[in-house]
Amino acid sequence: MEKTKEIILINNFKTDYHICSGKDSDSCTRFAAKQLQKYLYESSDCCIPVFSDKCPRRSKEILVGLNVRNTKKDARLNSASSEAYVIKIEDGDIIIHGNSPRGTLYGVYRFLEEVVGFRCFTSDCEKVDKHNSIILKDIDIFQDFTFEYREVYFTDAFNGDFASKNMLNSNLADISADKGGKTKWFNFHHSFSDLISPDDYFDSHPEYFSEIDGVRRKEHTELCLSNADVFKLALKKVETWIKENPDCKIFSVAQDEWMGHFIKMACECDKCKKIDEENESQSGSVITFVNKIAKAISEKYPDILIHTFAYQYSRKPPKNVKPLDNVIVRLTNIECSWGNSIEETAKRDKEGNCAKFLNDLIGWSKITNRLYIWDYCVNFRNYLLPFPNFRTMEKNIELYRKSNIKGVLMQGNFSYGGGGYMDEMKSYVISHLLRDDHSDVKTLIKEFCDNYYGEASPYIQEYIYLWEDEVNGKELWLYDDADSNLFNSSNIEKASKLINKALTYKTEKTQKRIEKVALGLEYLKLVRLPLDYERRNEKIEEFYEKVRSQRITELFERTALEYSIDIMKKSRYCKERNNWYSLYYIMR
Ligand SMILES: [Zn+2]
Repeated sequence: MEKTKEIILINNFKTDYHICSGKDSDSCTRFAAKQLQKYLYESSDCCIPVFSDKCPRRSKEILVGLNVRNTKKDARLNSASSEAYVIKIEDGDIIIHGNSPRGTLYGVYRFLEEVVGFRCFTSDCEKVDKHNSIILKDIDIFQDFTFEYREVYFTDAFNGDFASKNMLNSNLADISADKGGKTKWFNFHHSFSDLISPDDYFDSHPEYFSEIDGVRRKEHTELCLSNADVFKLALKKVETWIKENPDCKIFSVAQDEWMGHFIKMACECDKCKKIDEENESQSGSVITFVNKIAKAISEKYPDILIHTFAYQYSRKPPKNVKPLDNVIVRLTNIECSWGNSIEETAKRDKEGNCAKFLNDLIGWSKITNRLYIWDYCVNFRNYLLPFPNFRTMEKNIELYRKSNIKGVLMQGNFSYGGGGYMDEMKSYVISHLLRDDHSDVKTLIKEFCDNYYGEASPYIQEYIYLWEDEVNGKELWLYDDADSNLFNSSNIEKASKLINKALTYKTEKTQKRIEKVALGLEYLKLVRLPLDYERRNEKIEEFYEKVRSQRITELFERTALEYSIDIMKKSRYCKERNNWYSLYYIMR
């Protein structure tokens, strides 16, 4: 078959092409063909007709998905994931097809990125370059994904359009079937108490729950994982979940969370203890138990995966037992610091949290091929506070890529109104870093700023790099306050000058966006003021009005807005808080 090196797709608003998808193709492939038509039209004012393969060939074609005219799957896809795709030219036709409808849709977006500069920066900001003519040169792309699971936990990234255009296959994003659908998990989080509730069973069977310091616990407890009846009951429950949720592929059998940093939770009965001692970690009894469930499930449901955590007490990998192939281990790095990458910080502080985490990560990566990471990218105690971790994220994601990690969740500010530090930009940058065809962070930040903040872009970029430079060599924790050593009067003054400059370039379109960045700095400055500072409370009231006009719903994670404003007034740096986590909701 002859390969054409250069083809003219659109010549001065006219085309010789048709877009063709299969008559019987699914809704996602048909949607992909329509998206292709839509964005090529936006670029060139040329509307390329969409036909099905039932119609006779009228011209050269862009073939979307496999169909009567393009029956042969590209051989490169044979050993690739279901999301992989190919874009190529054959005999003058343009062929875009994936290993699944979702892969085909991704192929269409990638084609649009390459050919007309398509970008989806946020759910309400996209870019398509204008071209009178579109000429393709030697396009031949095969693309797969190292990370089979890619999720970004920011409000705007839950938008299904944003997620599918940026190739996130999230559990939480609202991705409809025509956009490729979700990677649907059941019981996404901690689940031991859902498997066997202490309220239902503790009084009759205390032995089902954690024995700690010789006493079985009803509160702040886990399951006694070596108990044979616990296994039987849990297995029955998982089977019920599977039957009742046929659209889910992943089911959680995972430890609970009760501020596990501070109190012991895992069972220490003689049998559990023996397993854990042999494995030199409390992950020993967790993985032993999860494996037993996973083995029983695999016999009836070979496609189902069982998820568990390597979190806090179970973060260290077990010495002897290895997770089965259908077990996802999700390793979390909540103890780490984000001022520099995990590897850089581990090098600087060989006994520190990052060094220990890196050790655990390497350990797990050796014993499982389904290691996922639950990472974090915002200050949860002060959502608006600058949390400069763009460079850190880039390096950490590269570490995950080279460490045999197969899935990444980046948890940011997930509250309904959004409003974390640079959260829209982070959603965009992370989603690209999780792809294998990504640009570097600097390029991603620049293209985001140029398109989202307009002429204020250079000053917003300078503002971002000011904090990125300032944090280098320092610790950055998820729960820092505004008195952390990242901030001082000199860098706050520099930041203020940049933001003031940026604000002078606001337009009707960019005003609200730039003011949102300014609000983060305003928060930092306000909470640093001494409590007796003149008009402090009035300034906070003015700030509150701005927060509401931006429709931001939380300043501190899961905390009512009015309460947070009250704390701003009463406590310098917002240090004294009683109602931490006053809003309780579960992300599903
Ligand atoms: Zn036990």
